[in-house]
Amino acid sequence: MKCPKCESENTQRLEVAFHSGTQNISTTSNSAGVGIGSGGRIGFGGGVTKTSGQSQSVLAAACTPPAKKPYKWPAIVAFFGLLMGLSGFKDMSTILAGLPLLGIGAFSGYVLYFRFQFNSKEWPKVYQYWVESWICHKCGGIYHQA
Ligand SMILES: [Zn+2]
Repeated sequence: MKCPKCESENTQRLEVAFHSGTQNISTTSNSAGVGIGSGGRIGFGGGVTKTSGQSQSVLAAACTPPAKKPYKWPAIVAFFGLLMGLSGFKDMSTILAGLPLLGIGAFSGYVLYFRFQFNSKEWPKVYQYWVESWICHKCGGIYHQA
């Protein structure tokens, strides 16, 4: 692949650039230090630092694949909104109090439905577009070519 802008051959698929710049890390580093305090006293200090998670280069961050929309929060809000709203169906006053909760629950259900639609229909297209895109390491441009 040749960059259409700067004509550099130094290009890479976004997928490759992303994976080569992202790694799972789990390290334990020991550090020790000696310091001289006031009055000429010598003190020793030490520490253990644990680091875990994902380490990502700036380049990899720029090549991140499109994310699916999460279900967690709308699912939780929909569940409790409907549950609490429906639990008010005993007499008129609690029904009225529960109506806003039902509304919130129903709205969250709609958000959930919308996200499901996006994840199952739109996301595969966006992801495919990402898979077919590549980056130029010289000028930093990102291009799409199937
Ligand atoms: Zn370029």
